[in-house]
Amino acid sequence: MNETAQQIVDKDRQAYLPVFNRYNLVVERGEGPYVFSVDGEKYIDFLGGIAVNVLGHNYKPLVEAIARQAAKVIHISNLYYTRPQADAAAKLVKLSGLDRAFFANSGAEANEGAIKIARKYAHSIDPDKSQIITALDSFHGRTLATLTATGQPKYHKGFEPLPAGFDYVPYNDIDALERMMSDKTCAVMLETIQGEGGVYPPKDDYLKRVRELCDRHGALLILDEIQAGIGRSGKFFAYENYGIKPDIVTLAKGLAGGVPIGAFISTEEVAKTLKPGDHGTTFGGNPLACAAANVVLDTVPEPKFLAHVVEIGAYLKRRLIELQKKYPALITEVRGKGLILGAELSGANKKTGSEIVADCMNRGAIINCTAGKVLRFIPPLIIEKAHVDEVIDVVDAVLEQSL
Ligand SMILES: *Cc1c(COP(=O)(O)O)cnc(C)c1O
Repeated sequence: MNETAQQIVDKDRQAYLPVFNRYNLVVERGEGPYVFSVDGEKYIDFLGGIAVNVLGHNYKPLVEAIARQAAKVIHISNLYYTRPQADAAAKLVKLSGLDRAFFANSGAEANEGAIKIARKYAHSIDPDKSQIITALDSFHGRTLATLTATGQPKYHKGFEPLPAGFDYVPYNDIDALERMMSDKTCAVMLETIQGEGGVYPPKDDYLKRVRELCDRHGALLILDEIQAGIGRSGKFFAYENYGIKPDIVTLAKGLAGGVPIGAFISTEEVAKTLKPGDHGTTFGGNPLACAAANVVLDTVPEPKFLAHVVEIGAYLKRRLIELQKKYPALITEVRGKGLILGAELSGANKKTGSEIVADCMNRGAIINCTAGKVLRFIPPLIIEKAHVDEVIDVVDAVLEQSL
C-alpha cells in the first residue's frame, strides 16, 4: 500500500534534520513547469527548485541523457578522463572566454574553490594579500568560508570562529568599495545580480567600476553566478549584460538542470597557481553530472533560447508591475532581469511574505519569498506567457486578500 502524504511527512519529521521551514506539500513528479503532489494535485512551479530546473521538469533530452550515461558509467573518479567532463569543460571555457573550468558538487563548493584559487594566486604575489571583500546581503553558501563570504550576520551567528580575511561593503556602493580596497586586497567577490538577499541587480556602471578598482589594486574579480547565470538574466552569463569579464566565475544551480553540480572557471594566469594536489574532489564533475550539464550547455546558450528568456522575462516583469500599480500599498518595487525577478512587499500587508507564499501554494502556484519581504520569481526558463498569466492570477487573488 502506498504511503499517504501525511505518513511521508511524519516519517520525514522524525528522521530528517529540521533545518528547513517546509511547506505542506509532498512532491511526486513534475512535467514542464508543473509539479504534482503524491495526492495528484497540480502546481505551477515558479521557483524551479530554487533556480535549478532551468529546462523544467521531465525534460526528455535531459532525462534520456542521464539514463544513457547511467547505463555506461555513473562515476569513475577524477583520476581518469571522461568524454562528458571534457565536453562540459570545453563548452564552459568557450562560453565564458576564460581558460580553465573545474567541477564541484554544489554552489558552496564552487565558491569555496574560487576563494581557494584566489588566495593561492594572491599569496604568490604577496603573502599578506589576503583580503576578500564581499557585499552585504550577499549569499555565497553554507560552508565555513562561503558563509563567512556571505554578508549577512544571521548566517554567521553561532559558527564562530570564522575564517579570517573577509570584509563587507554595501552592494552597489562603489565609494564604499574604493575605501575598503588596497594592494592587500586579494579579491572582490560579488553576485552579478544579488538573489537570496532580495533580487538586487547592479546599478548602471557599478560592475565596470568594480572591474576598474580590481585592476588598479591587482585584485581578482570573482563573480558568483550560481543563481543569475545559466541564461537566467537573458545572457548565458549575467556579466555579459554589463560589458565586463571576471577573473573567476562560479556556477551551480541550473548548470545540470537539477543534477547536483558546481563549477568555477578562471583565467589561465590564476589557474596556473594551483598545482596537482592543491585542490580536488571525489564526485565533482563525474560523468553522470557532466552528461546532464552537456544537455543544458547545448540548449540554453542558443540565441533563440536566450531570446525567449528575455521576452518572457519582460512579460513577467510587466505583469508584476501591473500588480504593483493595482496594489501600491502592498508592493513597493519590482526589480530584476530576465527570469530573476523580485516584487518587494511594503510591510503594510495583513500577511507576511511567507503567508502570501503559502496562500499562493494553496491556490496551486509555487513562488518564494526571500529576505523576508521580497516575492521572488525564478521559474524554469521554458515557461510561456500562459504560465505567467496563471501565476499572476493567483498572486493577484492572494494580494487582494492581503489588503
Ligand atoms: C544557492 C547559491 C549558493 C549556494 O549554492 P549551494 O548549491 O546551495 O551550495 C551560492 N551563491 C549563490 C548566489 C546562490 O544563489
